[in-house]
Amino acid sequence: MDKKRILTVSEKAVPHIKKGDPLLSPISFEEELEFTEGEQVQIVSPVGQFLGEAYLAKQNKGIGWIYSFEQGTDFDSAFFLNQFNQALKKRQALLDSDDTDAFRLFNAEGDGIPGLSIDYYAGFAVISWYSEGIYHYKEQIISAFQEIFLFVKGVYEKRRYQQDDAKASGFVYGEKAPSPHYVRENNVLYATYLDEGWMTGIFLDQRHVRRDLMQTYAPGKTVLNTFSYTGAFSVAAAMGGASHTTSVDVANRSLEKTREQFEINGMDPAEHKIHVMDVFDYIQYAKRKAMTFDVIVVDPPSFARTKKRTFSVLKDYGTMIEDLIDISADKGIFILSSNAATYKRKKFRSDLEKAFRNKGIDYSIVKEYGLPEDFATATGSPTSNYLKVFVIQKH
Ligand code: SAH
Repeated sequence: MDKKRILTVSEKAVPHIKKGDPLLSPISFEEELEFTEGEQVQIVSPVGQFLGEAYLAKQNKGIGWIYSFEQGTDFDSAFFLNQFNQALKKRQALLDSDDTDAFRLFNAEGDGIPGLSIDYYAGFAVISWYSEGIYHYKEQIISAFQEIFLFVKGVYEKRRYQQDDAKASGFVYGEKAPSPHYVRENNVLYATYLDEGWMTGIFLDQRHVRRDLMQTYAPGKTVLNTFSYTGAFSVAAAMGGASHTTSVDVANRSLEKTREQFEINGMDPAEHKIHVMDVFDYIQYAKRKAMTFDVIVVDPPSFARTKKRTFSVLKDYGTMIEDLIDISADKGIFILSSNAATYKRKKFRSDLEKAFRNKGIDYSIVKEYGLPEDFATATGSPTSNYLKVFVIQKH
């Protein structure tokens, strides 16, 4: 390749990079950078010490990624083949699993290619490109992918850097997946739609939480699933023998998608409640009716705006829990999740504990989760370990 530019980072950025944080942001540099998306550069410290090989790209607040801490590594086919090979080896247990065929096949910087993630959906793959810069390498990345992941029948892509949801999704190569395409996770079926906008119908990072809900927390219990989307938690709970589930989501599509999930697992959706409504209105309604639930699942978006109100996990999570405590049964269990990278585990935990204290309720934290093993994270990268889930029980 052509000779790379050598870029000097500011003194402040050096310790982060040395700890293994691969993200470069505008404040990593003293001066404003001009670059073309995907440009490869070498990163050095103010005293000229080599720090990493990087490519430049705008992604959220970042402007580039270090892809290798070894001098002389290029961002090319040989590199992509190597990263894919290693990622494949790490997933062997999941690939051999009889009860699960949907999981993350490749996780961005955690697997060595920042800006790129790939999910596996029973024979098919969905590639997410997080910047124009990484998309620039599409041809080489796809051909390396094809060479290593021979068992993948067909591939779709999501260009996540594009604003327009409808234009962000596309078919790449191979066979087309049926729509819906059924995947299996811990022997529960989920209907996925691989080519409908950004979302496919299931968030694969909650696999272990759905398993424990099904096996441990839900059997014989009533379950309220708030921000239920396609009802994945409700279906896992019902498959585990929950006596009843209630799903609440403000989006119209959630009704038929949740019904479908029950049906494909041989259950009658009419035996469960599915409300298309604002969670905050539902909580008030349940309070008025003096309803209570044994298990309450809360997995909201980081930020949501409905006609009546805005909700931000950072500001409003605690108050919402206080409200939910009022509709929880004796010894009730809460499964509380947030995927907001800016909402730190410590702050989340202290907001939750404060909510219970404010209500004068004794509680214990039964279990904590981060990301599952297939969502590999990069050491030293504070943003890649975004998932936090607490299971809390009232005494
Ligand atoms: N917990 C889900 C994923 C949630 S995605 C799962 O495990 O699959 C976030 C969902 O929150 C979206 O479906 C969105 O429609 C819903 N939502 C956002 N604001 C809401 C509100 N105020 N009330 C109810 N649902 C809301």
